[in-house]
Amino acid sequence: MKLSDRVKQLSPSPTLQITATANALKQQGHNVVGLGAGEPDFNTPKHIIDAAKEAMDKGFTKYTASGGIKELKEAVIDKFANENGLTYSPKEVMVTVGGKEGLYTLFQVILNEGDEVIVPAPYWVSYMEQVKLAGGKPVIVNGLEENDLKITAEQLEAAITDKTKAIIINSPSNPTGMIYSEQELREIGKVAVKYELVIISDEIYEHLIYDGKSHVSIASLEEDFFNRTVIITGVSKTYAMTGWRIGYAAGPQAIIQAMTDLQSHSTSNPTSVAQYAAIAAITGTQEPVTMMRAAFKERRDYVLSRIEKIAGFRCITPPGAFYAFIHVADALGNHKTVDEWSTALLKDELVAVVPGSAFGADDYIRISYATSMDNLKEAFDRIEHFVQVST
Ligand code: PLP
Repeated sequence: MKLSDRVKQLSPSPTLQITATANALKQQGHNVVGLGAGEPDFNTPKHIIDAAKEAMDKGFTKYTASGGIKELKEAVIDKFANENGLTYSPKEVMVTVGGKEGLYTLFQVILNEGDEVIVPAPYWVSYMEQVKLAGGKPVIVNGLEENDLKITAEQLEAAITDKTKAIIINSPSNPTGMIYSEQELREIGKVAVKYELVIISDEIYEHLIYDGKSHVSIASLEEDFFNRTVIITGVSKTYAMTGWRIGYAAGPQAIIQAMTDLQSHSTSNPTSVAQYAAIAAITGTQEPVTMMRAAFKERRDYVLSRIEKIAGFRCITPPGAFYAFIHVADALGNHKTVDEWSTALLKDELVAVVPGSAFGADDYIRISYATSMDNLKEAFDRIEHFVQVST
């Protein structure tokens, strides 16, 4: 059976693949510690689950409006107003099937064949594939280590051609955990305005920021930025709701309308009861978020303290998300590449990490610290041992 040319170039998500391999090993009875998955280990808070049960009992189990139910859109509009200082009308927001489907739909509606999208590296794995699936061409711009693995406005400007359509900003970043400062966002925004680019602002980790720092949305800085920014975010990471598949997008009406129309033909609508759960998440108590954020910070600090002690490892303190992006190329010992090293780590020590090649940064690994302290301790004992025996 011949597959389409479009999917032939598609690589499966390496992060999901590693999680699947780790799970398969677990099922065979191996004691694997997984640091691959990008999802909170906490359960969805009870009041959110109760809201979904109530919605089911009330019979909210039918198709909904394609762009989401009115009550959730209103909750999302209030959230943007209260937390980000952004004013949106109902026609400028929509509910998506997770941030991932929001991004997928966005690329489909803004890209023509050959249009270029600037993707700062290290990048989240799906941007590349999603841009290509929409006929676009990802143009990678490498964030330099001396700039905390972020790109500068000058780098952005140098990469722009007459085909450039959009730039992706992901702050806090997966995989690095870095955040762009207000000043950096202003400079990037100015370049985007000058070349009339769409700014795609992936803010899915907006609530997971530590050390007293806070999230700034590029859309909130200038009217000109607001008019060309599409924000993609959602409940997955903040509320431990990865499996519910609810995200939301906000931006210029014409784009949101086109995305809603496309979604009406792809998923019809995000799952009805999950939308009611998301209302409870956004409008209910934020205490569980405070608790989870505190736990993530404690784990991050522990992980950093262990990284510091491993010869050849280095890691810039990540102020956000729940990942540590560790430079390990100086600790490979008898392994030639980080890919090889990571495969051996899984085989020999049963620790799953994601090699940086998945994110366009070959010298690094990404670990997720969204797992218990016991797991982190065990994982780092094993990693330490692995580095000792392979050098
Ligand atoms: N954007 C980034 C940077 C992510 O890391 C993820 C999830 O891993 C997403 C978007 C999509 O999340 P979801 O589809 O669960 O909302």
